Amino acid sequence: MDLQAYFNAVDQALSALPWAEQWRTQLPVQINEVLNAPHGKREEWLQALAQLPPSTPSIVDLNAAAIQMGQAQDLSPEQQVVLRQSLETFIPWRKGPFNLFGTYIDTEWRSDWKWQRVLPHLSDLTGRTILDVGCGSGYHLWRMRGAGAKLVIGIDPSLFFLMQFQCVRHYLPYEPVYYLPLKSEDLPILKEGEGFDTVFSMGVLYHRRSPLQHLLELKGVLRAGGELVLETLVVEGDERTVLMPEDRYGKMRNVWFIPSTALLELWLRRLGFVAIRTVDVGQTSLEEQRRTEWMRFESLADFLDPTDHNKTIEGYPAPKRAVLIAQLPA
Ligand code: SAH
Repeated sequence: MDLQAYFNAVDQALSALPWAEQWRTQLPVQINEVLNAPHGKREEWLQALAQLPPSTPSIVDLNAAAIQMGQAQDLSPEQQVVLRQSLETFIPWRKGPFNLFGTYIDTEWRSDWKWQRVLPHLSDLTGRTILDVGCGSGYHLWRMRGAGAKLVIGIDPSLFFLMQFQCVRHYLPYEPVYYLPLKSEDLPILKEGEGFDTVFSMGVLYHRRSPLQHLLELKGVLRAGGELVLETLVVEGDERTVLMPEDRYGKMRNVWFIPSTALLELWLRRLGFVAIRTVDVGQTSLEEQRRTEWMRFESLADFLDPTDHNKTIEGYPAPKRAVLIAQLPA
């Protein structure tokens, strides 16, 4: 895969957004920082991508639970073997599922379930320009496009997830769906009023040491009247309740703030968001996050107290996630 050609295509897509002009001048430096960071597996990964058999999928369904690209008969049996080998190079697959030419990638997460909890509450995505912060493999990017978005940009600092994204994009090069290897800290603060129509941040806030800073980063790229979609871990409680784990939470090292939904709503109010709604709250089930053939490490069952699934192994409340929707004043 020619990464440079790919980033030229992203730049071309961004050139349609007048407010992105300044940002585009910073992007090459930011992207190169991630791309050129030392990484022992880079060559192996690029080779696996280069081996993906060429094909034009006879079916594309971005609205299927398992995003579907092509059918088994689109490839020869030999090509099927090569495809599977390439995809297995990118184990662990965490966010999905995907169905590539009949190869079903059963990911650790049923990301389609999250999408079902989110989609019914959104302003119609038709024609919108969208940013998904912390997009992982890019699963939801394709679903956003399937729901009618005009342009979808995902950012995530992981080179590995960029590779997983490219496995799918390889077969859909003309879709206006892009992934940039960036952190939300790298996002510009645009002129007030300008920016994306919808900004998603799902599964990222609790990984940030400064959650309000993260919310400001999201605000900085959202247009006036634009919609923020925030999905994150929460605990029971009122506006004064936040859990900061002493050390690990569900074996994760990088978990900082787990607020109540009431406190999250207060944070959003204080930062100038309006029309704030908590639209969904639920405890993550062992069916939604589990070990699979495509993710062979520990998963949720190993992160919970074996005698009480309502507690993490450290004794904290088990993961409960909320979806909040908010807007910037028009
Ligand atoms: N949004 C997806 C994936 C969540 S996993 C979903 O909800 O299913 C969290 C992702 O956030 C990881 O892929 C991680 O690489 C990314 N991430 C972590 N810190 C980030 C940051 N500062 N900016 C952007 N993405 C970040």
